[in-house]
Amino acid sequence: MLSKFLIAFTLGIFAFIAHGQSMRIGLFPNQKFTKIKFANATCNYFVIADTSFIGTLDHFSFCEISKGTSGLMDVSFQGVKKTGIKQVKVIASMHEKSIEVSGLSPAMKAKAFEGDFEIKHTDGKLLIVNLVDLETYLEGVVESEAGTGQKLEYYKVQSIISRTFAMKAMHKHAKDGFFLCNQVHCQAYLHKRNGGALIDTAVRQTKGQVMIQKDSTFAPTFFSANCGGQTCDPAHVWNESIPGLASFKDTFCIYTKQANWVKQISLSEWKRFLVETYRYPVDDSVSATMMFNWTTDSRPAFLFHPGYGIPMRDIREHFELKSAFFSVISDGTTVTIKGRGYGHGVGLCQEGAMKMAKLNYDYNQILGYYFPSFALSLIASGSL
Ligand SMILES: [Zn+2]
Ligand SMILES: [Zn+2]
Repeated sequence: MLSKFLIAFTLGIFAFIAHGQSMRIGLFPNQKFTKIKFANATCNYFVIADTSFIGTLDHFSFCEISKGTSGLMDVSFQGVKKTGIKQVKVIASMHEKSIEVSGLSPAMKAKAFEGDFEIKHTDGKLLIVNLVDLETYLEGVVESEAGTGQKLEYYKVQSIISRTFAMKAMHKHAKDGFFLCNQVHCQAYLHKRNGGALIDTAVRQTKGQVMIQKDSTFAPTFFSANCGGQTCDPAHVWNESIPGLASFKDTFCIYTKQANWVKQISLSEWKRFLVETYRYPVDDSVSATMMFNWTTDSRPAFLFHPGYGIPMRDIREHFELKSAFFSVISDGTTVTIKGRGYGHGVGLCQEGAMKMAKLNYDYNQILGYYFPSFALSLIASGSL
């Protein structure tokens, strides 16, 4: 029964998107906005409060929306204030135009987005939902996740894994009134695409392409900044294996920007953490020596030895390390953590994939290298 519901739900979303309609993206839902502003429109935007037309925003006008009492809002436009509003819509009159959203309380710098907007007062704060078509959303995601200055083939890779991720995670915020949030929690969509036209080209040339698993469902296309030379078994991060995502040695990211890092911790802090949290046996001479001098060439799940039961993931979290792949050395006063990579390390390694693109591998080859168990498919003819 549950799976029937899920299939119906997914098909519903699929039909919605296949017809070129909007994604619903929650913008900065963790910010507890009580007052926001829309300004700097690059075409006319119509402001509608419940069923009333409030006015037209152009490049020179702005509109402020603030939290009212018990689920209601106030809207100010051209010096006129309307109160007791349940929902505000800000609707674009043209495609590929944008408007800036900023936070007045708390303050947030203006950020431009394409598409339409719905604003409601829920859980004591203003919720902003951006209604934007999938491919336009992806242009913003690709720029937010990969930055500018990359090769076209890399942008195609990022377009496909981000499109797949969006399709697979579509129900993630169903209870919040939108599909996905625009933060790293889902995937970063911090603003509309501002940079190079290559991103636009990559998204357009891969339109509708996604990765699927053997059972034809959307593939889990996880990615992180740099795997440090070996991708991570998902079980080390989330306590469960994911079919198709085995750990393997990545030779492409070894000499890249974030391949290596170092962090120093005082000897006493390191020792105290291990002893107090894990009852590390410092009285045992072998254990005591290893505590300050331990090297690993491959990604382990546990520090020193599984028998001590100290997950690398927990050390990463406690000391805010860039990754959970590191060795330990000491000079007698300081412990030096020598680490490799940046991020969880599961799935595609962004810097490795960027390097492959620079070496003229195409997007098919790059995806095949990082996701050998998954296949490319089109949303329209694929997995549903
Ligand atoms: Zn999210
Ligand atoms: Zn890598």
